[in-house]
Amino acid sequence: MSQRGVSQSSFRVIDLIRKKRDGGALSDPEIGYLVDGCTNGGIPDYQMAAWLMAVVLRGMTRAETAALTHAMLYSGEVLDLGFLPAKKVDKHSTGGVGDKTSLVLAPLAAAGGLFVPMISGRGLGHTGGTLDKLESIPGFRVNLPVAEFHRVLKACGLSMIGQTEKIAPADRKLYALRDVTGTVESPYLICASIMSKKLAEGMDALVLDVKTGSGAFMKKEEDAVFLAELMVETGERMGKHMAALITDMNQPLGHMVGNALEVRECIEVLHGGGPEDLRELCLELGGWMFFLGGASATVAQGKQLSQELIASGKAFERFRQMVDLQSGDVRVIDDPSRLPDTGHRLEVPSPRAGYVTAIACEDVGTACVILGGGRERKEDSVDPAVGIEVHKKIGDKVLAGDALCTIHCHSDAQGARAKKLLEQSYQIGDASPAQLPSLIHRVIYKGEY
Ligand code: URA
Repeated sequence: MSQRGVSQSSFRVIDLIRKKRDGGALSDPEIGYLVDGCTNGGIPDYQMAAWLMAVVLRGMTRAETAALTHAMLYSGEVLDLGFLPAKKVDKHSTGGVGDKTSLVLAPLAAAGGLFVPMISGRGLGHTGGTLDKLESIPGFRVNLPVAEFHRVLKACGLSMIGQTEKIAPADRKLYALRDVTGTVESPYLICASIMSKKLAEGMDALVLDVKTGSGAFMKKEEDAVFLAELMVETGERMGKHMAALITDMNQPLGHMVGNALEVRECIEVLHGGGPEDLRELCLELGGWMFFLGGASATVAQGKQLSQELIASGKAFERFRQMVDLQSGDVRVIDDPSRLPDTGHRLEVPSPRAGYVTAIACEDVGTACVILGGGRERKEDSVDPAVGIEVHKKIGDKVLAGDALCTIHCHSDAQGARAKKLLEQSYQIGDASPAQLPSLIHRVIYKGEY
C-alpha cells in the first residue's frame, strides 16, 4: 500500500505503460502503485523496464516527478538522525567516469566535525559506483542494518552504505533495472533516484555534483542545469539546504578508472597527493559541504579547512576508521599495493604525434564495463581489479607510440575489445585545443557563498 491510502487494485500495469508511452501524465496513486509493485516484486521487471523506457522517451511533469520521488522515499524507512550532535551533510554525483570524490569527501567532512550518512549506488550504465569501489576493499560491508549504520556514524562521523531492503528499497530495485535497460538518461528518473535515497538517509544539507560532457548522462550543459534545478527544488521543498555544482565530465576525473584503481587514487588524495583535477574538485566540494553544514562562514573558508584536514592526516584517519568499522581489511588502506590487481597490463599507444584534442569519455567508461568493472546484466558480478590508467588527457602532447592509457586486464585477449574502444575514443590533432575544459562550469545556489 502506498502512502496515499488509496485503493489501487483497479490499476492495470499495461494501461499505465501505455498511458506514459502515449505522452500522458500519471496520477499520484498510479505512480504509487507502480513503485509499490516494483518494490514488493508484484510487478515483473519486463513491465517496469517498459514503463521506465516510456519515461525516458516521454518525460514527466513536475507533479509526476514529485510523486515518484515521494513514493520511492517512502518505499522504506526514513531515518531520523536527530540524536547526532552536529549537522548531517552529504554529497552526491549524477555519475561519471573516474568520478570517485565520495571516498575522499565523506571522511573529510567527518574529520571537520560534520556527520556524513552516505547512501550510495553501484555502477550505473558506463559510470562507476561508490559501492563497487568500496567492495574492492576485502571484507568491506556496504549492507549494514540500520542500527549498525547508526553505530558506525556515531563512532567515526561517517558511514557509507547502499540502498537496502529497509532504506530506499525502491531505488535499489529500479537502479539495478535501469543500469541494464538503457533507462538511466532521464532527468526525472535521476532526480527521483538520487533525492529519494538522500532524503531517506536523514541529511540536513546536500551538495550535488551534476556532471556534464561526453562522459556524463547529461551531455549538454543546459540538460545538466535542468536536472540540477529539479533536484535542488525537490530538496528545498523538503526543507533541506541545497547547492549544485555543474562540473566537467569531458574526460575521466583523475587518472584511474576501475574499482580498486579508484580506491588507490583516493588514498593518494587523502595523503595530500593524487592528480590535480581530482584534488581540486574534492577541495571545492568539501568547501561546499562545510559551508552548507555551517562549519565555515564561506565556501573559500571551507576549502581552506578541507586542505588542512587532508594535510594533517585527519581525513585519511577517518577513512581508515570507517573501513575498519565496516569490516574492511585496513592493511589494504595502509598499503594499497594489497588491493586487487590483475597483474597483467596492456598499453594503448598513440597512433601519431600531436595533441589530445578530445576524449569520448563515455567510451572509456564502457571499456571498463566491458573488462568486467561494471555490469551488462543485473546478475553480473563486478571484477574489482580491472580498469584503465589514463596517462594522457585533453591538451597533452603525445609522440607516436606513447601510451595514451594502460589497461589492467587478465590477458591481452581479454583486454582486446576494451583496447579497440579506447583507441577510437582518443582524438589526436596537430595543435592543443584553444580552450581546455574547466573543472567547474557553474554553481546553482540561492544566496551568497
Ligand atoms: N546516481 C543515482 O543515484 N541515481 C541515478 O539515477 C544517477 C546517478
